[in-house]
Amino acid sequence: MRQILNVLRFLALITIVPLTCLAASTQDAATLPELQGAFRLPEKNGWTYVHLQGTPHQIGFQNGYLLAPEIDDMLKVVMLEAQHDYKKDWAFFRDAAQNMMWPHIEQEYRDELQGIADGVKAHGVDLDVYDIVALNAFEEVPDYYVPWLNKQNKSAKNPKLAAPGNCSAFIATGGMTKDHQIVIAHNNWTSYLAGERWVVILDIQPEHGNRILMDGFPGVIASDDDFGVNSAGMMITETTITQFEGWDPNGKPEFMRARKALQYSNSIDDYARIIKEGNNGGYANDWLIGDRKTGEIAYLELGLKNTPLWRTKDGYFVSSNFARDPKVIKEETTFDPNNASSSPNARHARWEELMKEAKGKIDVSMAEQFLSDHLDTFDKTAYFGPKQANERSLCGHVDTSSRGVKEWAWDAYNPGGAVQGKAADSAMAAKMSFVARAGHPCGADFLAEPFLEHHPEYSWQKPLLRDMKAGPWTLFASGQKQ
Ligand SMILES: [Zn+2]
Repeated sequence: MRQILNVLRFLALITIVPLTCLAASTQDAATLPELQGAFRLPEKNGWTYVHLQGTPHQIGFQNGYLLAPEIDDMLKVVMLEAQHDYKKDWAFFRDAAQNMMWPHIEQEYRDELQGIADGVKAHGVDLDVYDIVALNAFEEVPDYYVPWLNKQNKSAKNPKLAAPGNCSAFIATGGMTKDHQIVIAHNNWTSYLAGERWVVILDIQPEHGNRILMDGFPGVIASDDDFGVNSAGMMITETTITQFEGWDPNGKPEFMRARKALQYSNSIDDYARIIKEGNNGGYANDWLIGDRKTGEIAYLELGLKNTPLWRTKDGYFVSSNFARDPKVIKEETTFDPNNASSSPNARHARWEELMKEAKGKIDVSMAEQFLSDHLDTFDKTAYFGPKQANERSLCGHVDTSSRGVKEWAWDAYNPGGAVQGKAADSAMAAKMSFVARAGHPCGADFLAEPFLEHHPEYSWQKPLLRDMKAGPWTLFASGQKQ
């Protein structure tokens, strides 16, 4: 009888091996002490949720181990874009990571980054810590450090680069919202190549500081499109300052400051202080910050020379890649605030319309609608429906636009735009939760094959460009088990 059972077990093993590869690695994982307490949930509506806990090295190791195949895949995307858009091979970015970033990274985050590299390696992917640092710095090195470097080494061969415009966002409180508490929402604008992979929910329980729930892409220590809540009641997001120029080679990397601010801030003042400390000018953003404990919200325009802060307990701040402060605009950008046809200004106008109409009624379901909005304030004949959305709608679809976005050097029909959305109110933040939707926040699907047929100029993306299908709005919470 035992023999028969053994034979049956053997046969069962042979037949289910291909299906149990993941289960086997999960089983191995349980035996690695670094992975104690960490887990990865099955994909849900396009999102992959990971829980990380422990020392900085443990958190990193868990991130690297649990997401190793996705980190490997994301790195290929970043390398492809680096080669195509910046005309630089990966060695350049690794070198910048080692010599420009690493010396300014604090020990806690060095340990975490090293942990990611170790975890990825333990899962059979051959990357090292400088690959991981370069991955984390994929916004600030190419779009801020490289233009600064090019300015110093003028060459006709340098590609035209401009700081990107990523995202549409708002935060509102007091008389603006239905329950007079805070509502915050954000959609992430990026290439569909990267954006379709920007679907990780990170629940981080660090040894020190506050617990964090944020979205992100595989292998990062900060959200990078920056939407998150912490256990001290902070609710944060940002959009990028279009056409920003500035870099301090002695500053601390933005991705580290952003992570540190979310982990260690207990107030708006904390957040502003931490993110400004060692400012390197990289990935310069307009930060929307809320504190659910007080109901107060703030807007920090984080230039390198100028860092104005506005705050209120009764009002709103909208953001769509426009600089707001005249000194920031004049001294640190080439942005034109008066061109109503540009994507940042057209979306700014739409945000103002929506805030006016929605005063006193804003809640999370309304925030979801805002993030899906397709109205073009500059050309109101282009209206409604996913096909008509373009680079001027809050839910960006630049792949439909013959204009592209010249402010951040996106050519006509660039396959990029709003790639996912998140929203939360104070009650959700109190439970360490938010809602998120993978893909265009309006629910439209992007399909790679027909796009590439119509736009062979983007065939360089073919090896890695995938369909970006939208999922439903889905609630995620710290500590969830399924
Ligand atoms: Zn849309």
